[in-house]
Amino acid sequence: MTPGSRDARSDGASFDVVIVGAGFAGLYQLHRLRDLGFSVRVFEAGGGVGGTWYWNRYPGARCDIESVDYSYSFSPELEQEWTWTERYAAQPEILSYLEHVADRFDLRRDIQFDTRIASAHFDEATGRWALETEAGESVSATYCVMATGCLSSTKVPEVPGVDAFAGPTFHTGRWPHEPVDFTGQRVGVIGTGSSAIQSIPHIARQAESVVIFQRTPNFSVPAWNHPLDPEYVAEVKASYPERRELCRQSQAGFPITGEPGTAREASEEERAEQFGEKWQEGGLRFLGAFADLLIDPEANDAASEFLRSKIRERVEDPEVAALLSPSAYPCGTKRLCVDIGYYETFNRDNVTLVDIRSAPIEEITKTGVVTAAATYEFDTLVFATGFDAMTGALSSIDIVGTGGRSLKEKWQEGPRSYLGLAVAEFPNLFLITGPGSPSVLSNMVVSIEQHVDWITDCLVHLRTADLGRIEATEEAEEEWVTLVAAVADFTLFPRANSWYIGANVEGKPRVFMPYIGGVNTYRAQCDEIAANDYAGFSLGA
Ligand code: NAP
Repeated sequence: MTPGSRDARSDGASFDVVIVGAGFAGLYQLHRLRDLGFSVRVFEAGGGVGGTWYWNRYPGARCDIESVDYSYSFSPELEQEWTWTERYAAQPEILSYLEHVADRFDLRRDIQFDTRIASAHFDEATGRWALETEAGESVSATYCVMATGCLSSTKVPEVPGVDAFAGPTFHTGRWPHEPVDFTGQRVGVIGTGSSAIQSIPHIARQAESVVIFQRTPNFSVPAWNHPLDPEYVAEVKASYPERRELCRQSQAGFPITGEPGTAREASEEERAEQFGEKWQEGGLRFLGAFADLLIDPEANDAASEFLRSKIRERVEDPEVAALLSPSAYPCGTKRLCVDIGYYETFNRDNVTLVDIRSAPIEEITKTGVVTAAATYEFDTLVFATGFDAMTGALSSIDIVGTGGRSLKEKWQEGPRSYLGLAVAEFPNLFLITGPGSPSVLSNMVVSIEQHVDWITDCLVHLRTADLGRIEATEEAEEEWVTLVAAVADFTLFPRANSWYIGANVEGKPRVFMPYIGGVNTYRAQCDEIAANDYAGFSLGA
């Protein structure tokens, strides 16, 4: 069916589909649906496209998936015309890629920028979603697609006086558009996750002094970032169809060939050799050293100790190295960081590491930070304190389903979804890379494309069958939630107090949110469900 069918509805305030968010997910979803004749409006809180890459402009921000794979696969022309310049693209390059995509596919005309959606209520009488923006504008849609991102709701430290500091304060996830000059400044940085690990070396090169407040050290592997050789880029471009398929059929969404053995079966020398090789490859590939690395505590201990030995090699002061060495959780069960000169930054004279595990921050004052052990004065504070991950952006919208219950209420004990795509009691609502899907444990672009394609096929199916309603059943949702937990329990992941499990937000229920089954297995499960007349969903007129 084509435009003009029962679903091609748009009078300026009512649409077939409203999409919330114009990052990688929202842009591709708009492109797919509009091409198929659906009327679509995207609402985006930011002033431009890009999502994560619009907001996270801190110095040193770059992807931790190799850029040739951290890109859309849906357009062979786009693949050929865009040329990545570095192994891991920096934020400005990724943002210009997404701006290029928006222009090339003429997407901006259907995106309303600077507009935050405040509420989305399902109206049982009309079978449609009624949405309201923060500015009070109302729109309605048959379907609502939440492309709100997994790491978009920023979190500031929960310490007294967090707003008291008189100087400039920056959150890495809400960095200003203008460059921030730290020259001559005394800078305090709270947090030592991926964002801190990427930004600290840059800040330290500029600032007069940097004090880093660390609660939990992270494991990090060098990026060995470098400009891409044109010959390599040409090879990748020539083999993109096979390379993309390798990504889709992989566990984590990036191409890996060959099956790793298990550390349990390897000798000490073989382990050392394999860890050394993976270290030299750099980045997240380290976790692929052995098949049992995230399952078997002994295999993980060996990997963790290897990584700690590298910290000791890179950091001159043994006490600082010890403080930077994680020991409270298995490596990889918190997101492995990928760095460029992070540990070496602690060899600089102007950098100090402060352990706030032993002497916690008691207060942020007008002039600095007070811990249980000392007082520090600053000109500027940087919060690299992360996000209310996976559920934060959704919970900040008042989303109300059939029973009059909000999604936030429904998820009070932890997120519940079917496939991380749909939620019982919330008909015609789709989540892109929602909790319960591989999402953050994969190359996000691969997972986004898979979800967008699945949702698009589903909407076309409904339109062709002259149906207008789809809802996950309670039983299917319950089974999926149980499966997601069971798969996680099979691994070492639940042993870490990570944001995967909601541990970084006070009062957030501890539920392991992403699905660890792998993007390959998950894709097959989603496809089978669709082929099986959308098993686990109830479809209606
Ligand atoms: P994060 O990993 O959650 O790190 C937040 C840091 O702030 C942690 O060190 C945390 O300590 C600390 N913190 C939070 N609240 C605190 C408090 N009240 N007092 C003291 N310290 C506090 O956040 P992120 O670094 O922004 O990264 C989030 C995720 O975004 C990453 O895991 C990754 O998936 C993604 N990311 C990716 C890249 C990339 O390489 N492409 C770059 C940036 C981010 P605790 O650990 O003790 O809670």
